[in-house]
Amino acid sequence: MSTQKAAIIGAGVGGLAIAIRLAAKGYHVSVFEQQGKVGGKLNELNVNGFRFDTGPSLFTLPELVDEILAIGGEIPSNVLPYKKLDVITKYFFPDGKVLNAFADPQLFANEVLSVLNEPKENIEKYLLECRELYRLTANLFIYNEFPTWNGFKSAEAREIGKNIGKLKAFSSMHSVNKRSFTNSNTIQLFDRFATYNGSNPYKAPGTLTIIPHLEHNVGAFFPDKGMYSIASSLEALAIKLGVTFHLNAPVQEIVVQNGKAVGVKANGQSEAFDLVVNDTDIFTAYPKLLPKQRQSWVYKRQEPSSSALIFYWGVKGNYPQLDIHNILFSGAYKSEFDALGKGTILSDPTVYLFISSKQVANDAPSGHENWFVMVNAPYNREQDWCTLVAETRAAIVRKIKTVLNIDIESQIVNENVLTPPQIEQLTGSYRGSLYGISSNSPMAAFSRHPNRLSKIKGLYFAGGSVHPGGGIPLCLASAKIIDSFIPPVNRS
Ligand SMILES: Cc1cc2nc3c(=O)[nH]c(=O)nc-3n(C[C@H](O)[C@H](O)[C@H](O)COP(=O)(O)OP(=O)(O)OC[C@H]3O[C@@H](n4cnc5c(N)ncnc54)[C@H](O)[C@@H]3O)c2cc1C
Repeated sequence: MSTQKAAIIGAGVGGLAIAIRLAAKGYHVSVFEQQGKVGGKLNELNVNGFRFDTGPSLFTLPELVDEILAIGGEIPSNVLPYKKLDVITKYFFPDGKVLNAFADPQLFANEVLSVLNEPKENIEKYLLECRELYRLTANLFIYNEFPTWNGFKSAEAREIGKNIGKLKAFSSMHSVNKRSFTNSNTIQLFDRFATYNGSNPYKAPGTLTIIPHLEHNVGAFFPDKGMYSIASSLEALAIKLGVTFHLNAPVQEIVVQNGKAVGVKANGQSEAFDLVVNDTDIFTAYPKLLPKQRQSWVYKRQEPSSSALIFYWGVKGNYPQLDIHNILFSGAYKSEFDALGKGTILSDPTVYLFISSKQVANDAPSGHENWFVMVNAPYNREQDWCTLVAETRAAIVRKIKTVLNIDIESQIVNENVLTPPQIEQLTGSYRGSLYGISSNSPMAAFSRHPNRLSKIKGLYFAGGSVHPGGGIPLCLASAKIIDSFIPPVNRS
């Protein structure tokens, strides 16, 4: 009988997923988390009767969570019920046009035709191409260790080689969208998907047009109890499987001896483990947890993805003109990304309003709504955040007045703020970036740190800063890849 022990550092969604997978394989699993609760960036705030999901708000590819729940022996719909959204996002364009992005591709194409006069065939063709891009690349680039020699020699790699043009890797996402659509609003709508991994559509390769496939061909979903229930249901299952959680337990070091990870040091105490999975940001992990290991320059020289500035507003009143996900677009989209590149925020930023109380009534007191108000922000470069926060708040209030004709300032009854330096401090995310490295170059997919290293046996890397990248589905994919390296054991 085995007494194999696994340590997981960080209880982000990737850490929780691999904890369950290894516990189900027979390992004695211990999770070390520096915060007092699990979830990492996927977290929540309860204040004065309002509940806010503080990080992710869009839930795609829910089957990846279902798979983990099923591996742990649960019936997924019993422990994490969720619904498909009929309207994914409500878009408010600078010229006053308002568009409902219906989940149903036909309804969506009709809406784009009637509101933006964009031919339906353009939408249909584009979404077919996004689907094909996912079919061609997902298994190799997302669900497998990459890049490897075996990967390059695989049947999938050969098929990609024959269809290299379909990857659109050598045009920017914006150029691809400009070629695909006639209306500037449709282009802006599809350019926005670059921000789903903290990138700039004017620089990121057209390959990122794979992202709309997830929302528009597969669907966007929302858990019945809000986004944080993804983390809490994974935590509950892990505990059921015998995983031990050490909260408020920052790890100081991953102990490596003779080319093998043999334990971790937390709260000044070393504990031996047979394998270690790091789910903390790789750019913080090297200097802090692996100070004697050299990080390859290939993975070091990358630009961090963008961050976010978020206001959590409890507001008086109900606003039927808004849906759960709403975008108030900037009138100068290119300048918005140029500003981010220079480390600042445009005075007319795109504003994202996420109101979970539209779906989860208990998230706000009666007669109120919980507004998560987010703008894209540069990663932390020690800017004057006090001034940036004040100026951006004023810009958001102005924009809400202009676009929605709502005087929101007078309706705010509760306010909390999350800035890039706070994201950095709370989650250990390098410079507060949301998704690890940006995808602003065609080489980004090849430049993410791998999920294991040949030079340190028994050490694995999960989460948004390593392969295959950031966002809940990709973090879950990183756990799945690591799981494929580790054989099951008989538990004593
Ligand atoms: C504002 C915001 C909006 C987002 N929107 C979306 C979205 O809509 N959809 C989507 O799919 N994704 C979204 N994301 C991205 C998504 O949240 C992340 O990609 C994902 O949650 C990262 O998970 P992870 O496994 O990498 O761990 P993380 O969430 O990064 O957690 C790492 C954990 O490690 C802990 N830690 C760090 N150092 C140590 C140490 N030394 N010892 C012990 N513990 C340590 C941290 O406290 C943290 O809990 C968003 C993120 C943010 C912040």
